[in-house]
Amino acid sequence: MREQDPKERIKNFGEVPYGYNKEEAVAEASRCLQCKTAPCVGGCPVEIDIPGFILAIKEERFSDAISIIKRTNNLPAVCGRVCPQEDQCEKVCVLAHKGDPVNIGSLERFAADWYRENGDSCETKTLGVKAGKVAVIGAGPAGLTCASDLARMGYDATVFEALHKPGGVLTYGIPEFRLPKDIVMKEVADIEVTGVEIKYNYIIGKIKTIDTLRDEGYKAFFIASGAGLPYFMNIPGENYNGVYSANEFLTRVNLMKAYKFPEYDTPINVGKKVAVVGAGNVAMDSARSALRLGAEKVYIVYRRTEKEMPARIDEIHHAEQEGIEFHLLTSPVEIVGDETGEVKKLICLKNELGEPDSSGRRRPVAIEGSEFELEMDTVIIAIGNGPNPVLLETIEGLNLNKWGNIDADENTCQTNIEDIFAGGDIVTGAATVIAAMGAGKHAAKNIDKYIRG
Ligand code: FAD
Ligand code: SF4
Ligand code: SF4
Repeated sequence: MREQDPKERIKNFGEVPYGYNKEEAVAEASRCLQCKTAPCVGGCPVEIDIPGFILAIKEERFSDAISIIKRTNNLPAVCGRVCPQEDQCEKVCVLAHKGDPVNIGSLERFAADWYRENGDSCETKTLGVKAGKVAVIGAGPAGLTCASDLARMGYDATVFEALHKPGGVLTYGIPEFRLPKDIVMKEVADIEVTGVEIKYNYIIGKIKTIDTLRDEGYKAFFIASGAGLPYFMNIPGENYNGVYSANEFLTRVNLMKAYKFPEYDTPINVGKKVAVVGAGNVAMDSARSALRLGAEKVYIVYRRTEKEMPARIDEIHHAEQEGIEFHLLTSPVEIVGDETGEVKKLICLKNELGEPDSSGRRRPVAIEGSEFELEMDTVIIAIGNGPNPVLLETIEGLNLNKWGNIDADENTCQTNIEDIFAGGDIVTGAATVIAAMGAGKHAAKNIDKYIRG
């Protein structure tokens, strides 16, 4: 896919890949073999009729293509951009055996973008089919998907969202150059057309609890509050000025639009040299954002090798193209500051790989005497997130697992409290957009079953 030149794009927050034009989309769609068994569909957690929508693109029936996709996916422009397709639908495409699967995600993006620019809304409101109020907590991909499926079944679905905007990580985490926010808002607006009501600035656990909502007549609950609590390394120096959690850094940049300062009143100071600790999508997004905010040198500091990096291959590739440098097999052990409390250095140890750990990846083992220093102005910590306890602490008797995530049934999303369901990152820990959406769909189906008795 055509994309912005790396030298240019590091100076702006515009989207990197341009997306297919009509001719490119039709040509790519023509490569699909329309397999009878369609293994690609099984690779998609929301089971989009992939051959169906690709055939519609091939035949230039773009409106049909988006209608087919929207039967099971309410966020196609989002998924077409950020789904790890290489590990899902495209991985099992029969053409993947020859190393060149159909670019399913890019075609999905094309259909969604065509619809946004040319189509009429294909959503409608389903009225009065089923009685019952359902409360969804969190307007991220899991909550929005669940609420929209419930609304389509005729339920009165209300989403309670802590922030002032919908989308969850799609809005506060993933940067504009990967996922423009007007695209997220348009897809959420379409979800609202189905009858979903979103209440903003509404922290469940503070303003109301599940018990008070139950008293108000809500018959079931879907907790989709994500994994928004950042982990730190617990090394000396993490309190110096210039140390950010990736969560805070990205929220300032994306949700609070620090990249448009002073038009938006959100300051952010990245300095000249920035170290980002971690190597997942969150780390790549932080590093690439820091570069665009004017840092001269940005480093990824990761304790394992490139092979074990959890980020999408595309994101690693884009980061490399943009000049991000990688310090691999490296673990920070201390952050050093000056007398004014500003970050000055990161002290690190070199590692070698040992035996595999519980994740199956080889464990990094520090090499004795390998200590070295990196001069830094800013350190961004992107080593993972856990569940935010604000809501969970107010639900008496709810079973959690050993990581503090909600213990919900994998298939039904039901918890040990029968009217409470949960899904997305709050159950699995930090995962993917499409996995969260898949959970939202399962939950909607099972909430319907539960309410109907
Ligand atoms: P979230 O998206 O976290 O949404 C939870 C929502 O609940 C939030 O809006 C939050 O404000 C709200 N909330 C929390 N507590 C309360 C409360 N008490 N009351 C009311 N509301 C509450 N995945 C991919 O597939 N591809 C990617 O490229 C990708 N990149 C990522 C980049 C970053 C920077 C991050 C952080 C994650 C990325 N992910 C990516 C992961 C993906 O975004 C998440 O797995 C997904 O968003 C989880 O969805 P969710 O609905 O469970 O939670
Ligand atoms: Fe593939 Fe994701 Fe689209 Fe499903 S939603 S078809 S997994 S890109
Ligand atoms: Fe087309 Fe690949 Fe799916 Fe076959 S497996 S229908 S070639 S996308």
